[in-house]
Amino acid sequence: MDVISTKLFERAKQHIPGGVNSPVRAFGSVGLTPRFIAAAQGDRIVDVDGNELIDYVCSWGPGILGHAHPRVIEKVKEACDRGLTYGAPTEKEVVLAELIAELVPSMEVSRLVSSGTEAVMSAIRAARGYTGRDKIVKFKGCYHGHSDGLLVKAGSAALTTSVPDSAGVPADYTKNTLVAHYNDEASVKALFEECGKEIAAVIVEPVAANMGVVLPKEGFLEFLRDITGQYGALLIFDEVITGFRLALGGAQEYFQIRPDLTTLGKIVGGGMPIGAYGGKREIMKCISPDGPVYQAGTLSGNPIATTAGIETLQILKENPRIYGQLAERTAMIADCAREAGGAHVAVNQIGSLMSIFFTDQQVTDYESALSADTRRYAAYFQFLLEHDIYVAPSQFEAMFVSTAHTKEDILRTCELIKTYIRSMAVCSSVS
Ligand SMILES: *Cc1c(COP(=O)(O)O)cnc(C)c1O
Repeated sequence: MDVISTKLFERAKQHIPGGVNSPVRAFGSVGLTPRFIAAAQGDRIVDVDGNELIDYVCSWGPGILGHAHPRVIEKVKEACDRGLTYGAPTEKEVVLAELIAELVPSMEVSRLVSSGTEAVMSAIRAARGYTGRDKIVKFKGCYHGHSDGLLVKAGSAALTTSVPDSAGVPADYTKNTLVAHYNDEASVKALFEECGKEIAAVIVEPVAANMGVVLPKEGFLEFLRDITGQYGALLIFDEVITGFRLALGGAQEYFQIRPDLTTLGKIVGGGMPIGAYGGKREIMKCISPDGPVYQAGTLSGNPIATTAGIETLQILKENPRIYGQLAERTAMIADCAREAGGAHVAVNQIGSLMSIFFTDQQVTDYESALSADTRRYAAYFQFLLEHDIYVAPSQFEAMFVSTAHTKEDILRTCELIKTYIRSMAVCSSVS
């Protein structure tokens, strides 16, 4: 039942746009009322009506250890007793920067901010400041937060025209953002051939996870590494999702590619608001107060947030084998979906990230992702929710598996996914 959630949603809509503080939470694309959450523990969340759900959203990524890991909670409680914010340097910031540099060696120097959006925005400013160039290349279907210059879509005219993808973004703010196609080397090459000397950076999600999960084709990331180097542009890996998730060292460790700059978010805060950007010392020297690129934040490096981040990264570092286990458990779900769906679903999985697309095409980029039947996804979402399983309320988001997901819960999830997909096959053969 969702009586209390429904009442809260009505109240929320009076004073919060759409009743939510981030749009996807409104359940708009699955046509239901969002569940309001009262508490979470391990792989379960409990809503205000008392339903206990197996959670595969995991707060959209931070929850790699599941919810309320006792070690993290204990440290955060201790930290709270010493005050919530000082606006002055702390040892914890140093420890976190050292830990980041140790686990993600390309991030020799890093700066903490308060969200992934802010990390990306600042990394791009750093890239522009360092190279003295204005243009950046992003990929269709990759999400890098909601800053003006990144809310773009490809224009219909020339290759190098982009237009805002949100009201309220002046066209002038997106004119320096060029849009290429994920997994399509030719689209990147064409942009570099046209204006390579004006391009400050290419920014990419090394594994795209915001159009559903889409893996990079063999050689694609290497190609980006090469072409940026060739033109004196920087390569920025947006590892806000993949950082500490695909491997301890993120996608760059997994694929053995060293970007010039990296952005982190989600897991790095262990459930608290932290983003980070960093990279080569030489580039990061440009950041104020060392250099001319201004960037600041009242709550940056917050002592409670850094406490949660450090403890989370420590736990991951002490248990490197969890990555194999996570991948294994996630593959169990992926295999079930593939087995039941045959050619009628596309299942993309890597490590603890996966997506089931209701399409008979392979999903390798934004266009093929859009071939998915979102009504089918809505029905799938509803079916799982009725059985107390909470997946992303959108076809174009990842399913996240955590170390708290028990084998029993994974098996139960597999069975239900199979049941849904088989029922779908029956329906479509009838119609
Ligand atoms: C979530 C996300 C962001 C934005 O992070 P916020 O903390 O929501 O601002 C940026 N890039 C990627 C790849 C993300 O998944």
